[in-house]
Amino acid sequence: MRELLAALRRPIDELCARGLPSLASPDGEERVLELAGQMASAARALSAAFAGKSARPASEAEHLRCKKTAEDLALLAESVATMGRLPLSERQRVVALGLRLCAGVAMYLPAPSDKRPVSAVAPTPIAKPQAVPSSRQAPVKVAAPSASELPADPLLQPLLGLPGVGPVTAEKLAARGLERVIDALYFLPRRYDDLRQVVPVGQLQPGVLQATVVLVERTRVVWARKRFLEVSFRGEDGSPLLARWFYFHGGYQKRLLPGKRFLLTATPSKFRDSLQVTHPDLLDLPPRAEQEDGALPDGSGHIRIRYPDVEGVPGRLIERLCQGLCSKYAELVPDGVPAQLLGRLSLPSLPDSLRELHSLPSETAPELLMRLNEGLAPPQRRLIFEELFFLQLGLLRRRRAIAADDATVCLTSDDSLSSLRAVLPFVPTAAQERAIVELRGDLQQPHPMQRLLHGDVGSGKTLVAYAACELVMSSGHQAAVMAPTEILAEQHYKTLHGWAKATGRKLALLTATTPKTARKTTVAQLQAGRFAEVLRIAEATGQPLDRESILAMLRAGFLDMVVGTHALIAEAVEFHDLALVVIDEQHRFGVSQRAALRRKGRQPHILVMTATPIPRTLALTLYGDLDVSQLDELPPGRTPPVTKVLPGRSSEKRALLAVRKAVAEGRQAYWVCPLIEDSDKLELSSATARHAALATALPELRVGLVHGRLSSDERDDVMERFRRRELEVLVATTVIEVGVDVPNASLMVIESAERFGLAQLHQLRGRVGRGSGASLCLLLHGSGLGTDSGAVLPAEEGREEDEDAKKPRKRRSTQSEDAAASGPQAAPHRLEVVAATSDGFRLAEADLRIRGPGEVLGTRQSGLPPLRFADLLRDIDLLTIARREAAALLARDPELSRPEHAVTSRVLAERWAHCDLTLE
Ligand code: ADP
Ligand code: MG
Repeated sequence: MRELLAALRRPIDELCARGLPSLASPDGEERVLELAGQMASAARALSAAFAGKSARPASEAEHLRCKKTAEDLALLAESVATMGRLPLSERQRVVALGLRLCAGVAMYLPAPSDKRPVSAVAPTPIAKPQAVPSSRQAPVKVAAPSASELPADPLLQPLLGLPGVGPVTAEKLAARGLERVIDALYFLPRRYDDLRQVVPVGQLQPGVLQATVVLVERTRVVWARKRFLEVSFRGEDGSPLLARWFYFHGGYQKRLLPGKRFLLTATPSKFRDSLQVTHPDLLDLPPRAEQEDGALPDGSGHIRIRYPDVEGVPGRLIERLCQGLCSKYAELVPDGVPAQLLGRLSLPSLPDSLRELHSLPSETAPELLMRLNEGLAPPQRRLIFEELFFLQLGLLRRRRAIAADDATVCLTSDDSLSSLRAVLPFVPTAAQERAIVELRGDLQQPHPMQRLLHGDVGSGKTLVAYAACELVMSSGHQAAVMAPTEILAEQHYKTLHGWAKATGRKLALLTATTPKTARKTTVAQLQAGRFAEVLRIAEATGQPLDRESILAMLRAGFLDMVVGTHALIAEAVEFHDLALVVIDEQHRFGVSQRAALRRKGRQPHILVMTATPIPRTLALTLYGDLDVSQLDELPPGRTPPVTKVLPGRSSEKRALLAVRKAVAEGRQAYWVCPLIEDSDKLELSSATARHAALATALPELRVGLVHGRLSSDERDDVMERFRRRELEVLVATTVIEVGVDVPNASLMVIESAERFGLAQLHQLRGRVGRGSGASLCLLLHGSGLGTDSGAVLPAEEGREEDEDAKKPRKRRSTQSEDAAASGPQAAPHRLEVVAATSDGFRLAEADLRIRGPGEVLGTRQSGLPPLRFADLLRDIDLLTIARREAAALLARDPELSRPEHAVTSRVLAERWAHCDLTLE
């Protein structure tokens, strides 16, 4: 099997060494195809070997693993076999997949008896551990290399089988991403505790982590609002120290018997006039009489290196594992940042950095310790830099790769858009015109457009997107627009339908609620290819086209364009000639959804749109591979809404007055109900309750209700009535957040606004101020039905606050973050920030600071390698440098094919192996 793996790895290595961009250059094509052939047959053979192994497995787990591996390999063989027909970006994806599979397979093969790594950075023989579980064997010295066999990279060896790591522990480690030696090297300490001096209790400083020797005086459980354990200690100098545990079990009391002596480590805080500690660390000490003066046991008097907790695995084991492996193998970790660059930036090498982080010398200066605890010491900066450097290299390369693919050229004349212009009820803004020119330029290129259209809510992105579609359609191809919600898709359809009619294009709407099947008579007509007739009847009867008809018409190329939700990516949806994909509010989609739509065409042009304002530095990261068109101008006649924060119980009354006033002026109002995390049901009941309350409070007005649980017909009906002014007030859940457009609405009331993210509030606010005349947005805080009457919310709130500390961050958990991060005072402050600025960019920055980039931008599903060390806000300086250096490196060596960049090229491929190398 090892040979088979080597046979697979060889062509892959050569393909990587040639540089990924050259995978599709005409002069090397023959060799690439030859290598692809080798890859395919090696993958097939290896797949067969695994299939055989899965037939006679040692365990059920092994059976499953082998079966899965066999399948993956077969799939790889299949994709590689078609290499000749694949565009560059797909070729890269296939090679990356191969690389990943190889690494996976290597991990599970038993280590050969005598091998040495031929990793480019591992010139010296090293000791390596037994990979097969065996009680306490000493590491074996490595003998001479044997060139014919695949190198068993020690860094990829499993942790399972190392001393202390049995199957149970291995599983627990794996749950934290610790599977291989390399993972342990990158599992970095979270804190360094300076315990070199033991301080008498009387001299403890508040706010600083210190160690001191204490005796237990009294232990008791206190039943307050929350049960806690309270222990009175006394230092050897006679000073008292109070300690509390809010999480504890019976074992604590047994251990903390009066008279027992401990080395206590904690950061004391000042409480009234004395010092107090919570959840201190305790190390048992023998009674004073038995201990020689000053001599403290192991673990004290040092810098203690603290690793993140791994559930079910003792801290000591983690420590030993990480530190032991680091001292052995750090040298082998391939350093992908060119040495010359490291020198210029005064950053330490990767092995040095890892070694320093895992084992600090005991004479480390306190200042350095402080930097380390802030995450800003040189070895940490080095890891951060590297992460950002490879991120940027990958983005830049990804961009080049797609730019090299072939795409449909859409040649259009200057007056292609004249019939569209003729029906527009407005004159496009200069920004819209500029964006259209940019898009048109892209569409005329023989390579796929990769463009982000970026503009604040209401800046008119829809028109620009349609103009692009129109250009594509006028040169005879199809376009698709995908929106994140049904409401939005329907609204796009309505807008675009009018424009499409005027320009003679055929357009359909496809969502999850589109009628599934065609009538019998329709089926017959579809089969006869009489699409025009089907469409005519549908329009004449006012019925929407059914899914069956739409699919047939798209496949036949009869429809020019389709608008829809993710229903568009269903397998059954096929296009005749899809040349443009538009994705609205792209951050709402996952990577795979975007990729799936893209694959429906042959390298279609791509336009993604977002209203999430992104600070420039972050745009570089997230969209580093996209061209950006910016709509930096709102259509004329808009006055940004005035925003007011109304705190307290009276806020509701004031909001009601505002509603009356708006309606008296002939305008309409939205009333948005609180966002309730993870609970559609509560969200719904609070909206229903609010609807009833408003109907009672405003008997003279017509109040509608719209929420996510309504069928699309019902929702449509309500929205339509609101649009036609048959309803004056619309109570809504956040379904109206994106894109809904009713220009006559001039008042937006947002209840419990503190539950929303800043960017979300900005989006909601963007629903008003769309027509002429003044508009108003009221952010209610600390009011609402729930909080007043106890009807809906209090239980929910209580639960959330309680669990704040333990809960991982969730995408919509703005409310709990407020409470956790900045206390109850923070909400009004955040709301004031929204009130104070209508500048989406400034808000985005504030939002980032409060919620973190992962939350705001959905980086987690952005298809980028995860950032483990870098913090996109804190490390903006390194990001900028990384960007610059990555571009400079690619300018000198675009394919990273020079020998001195071999490691860089390999590390890059590995880092991105889990990401799609193509634009999603
Ligand atoms: P967004 O960028 O938020 O998607 P839309 O495309 O939905 O914005 O446009 C918002 C509103 O502005 C729509 O009612 C649209 O008809 C209108 N609009 C777009 N462009 C212009 C323009 N140039 N002049 C006047 N109104 C416009
Ligand atoms: Mg929009």
